[in-house]
Amino acid sequence: MWTSLKSWIDDLSPACKQASEWQSRALDAPLPLRKRAGLWIHLRLCRWCRRYGQQIGLLRQVCRKCDEEPASPPKAGLSDEAKERMKQRLQSRRD
Ligand SMILES: [Zn+2]
Repeated sequence: MWTSLKSWIDDLSPACKQASEWQSRALDAPLPLRKRAGLWIHLRLCRWCRRYGQQIGLLRQVCRKCDEEPASPPKAGLSDEAKERMKQRLQSRRD
């Protein structure tokens, strides 16, 4: 009885450390209802955890984008335009 009451209270009033851990976990899978409610209440009161949540959300978005669009490797060598310019310069020196 007391153990379950304590776990209810713990879930509904998480400390910052717990709240930040739950925010990270919530990015991967939905939290149980009680923890979600506790987190919601905590985020209304704590701007540090709100900010943390925004930052990890942003990081997640950036990581997803990187996974979706892998950076293309840089082109080796000169561009066609640069090659043409060099050719014209060399030719003009010969003339
Ligand atoms: Zn907090």
